[in-house]
Amino acid sequence: MTLSPGDGIMMTRMSKANCYCNFCSSPMRFEFCRVGETVNCFNCGMETVLFIPGLAPPYAEEQYGLEVREMKWGKNQFGLRHVEGVVQNVSSKNLDWARIEFILSDKAGVAVGSTSDCLISLPAKATWKFQAPVIQGEAVCVSDPILTCEYGRTGKAKVPRPPSPVSSRAA
Ligand SMILES: [Zn+2]
Repeated sequence: MTLSPGDGIMMTRMSKANCYCNFCSSPMRFEFCRVGETVNCFNCGMETVLFIPGLAPPYAEEQYGLEVREMKWGKNQFGLRHVEGVVQNVSSKNLDWARIEFILSDKAGVAVGSTSDCLISLPAKATWKFQAPVIQGEAVCVSDPILTCEYGRTGKAKVPRPPSPVSSRAA
């Protein structure tokens, strides 16, 4: 067995990795050794941390945790509906940005769209009053919130929500 010159090229390619911007989902290509670095996305300019999809994230989730403190339906002065509430940065990191997203569904549970709100700069321990507009008139349900910051998605979306009358009789 001998190494062909092509193997060297393969190795070089392997040292690059692909991920996507945590803000706008644009694909990003970077040197493998830069995993965990914060860079500005070429597309949207927002900060995003380089990671390798499918592998453990470069930072433990406790380091960038966001938590939803309150969440409810509301209306603005023009009668436009929105989902409003409070998100807290429970970590000790000053986050460059934070985003909350919801999937909206109708009475039958069919997804009819999504909504989101975004904040630039959320200091450690600070709270953020978000307001995500809902233009879909048929939307009556919101999914659990999807919380993201430059470190990626954070799964700590513990929402104080009333028990569902539908599933409470499950045997
Ligand atoms: Zn981007």
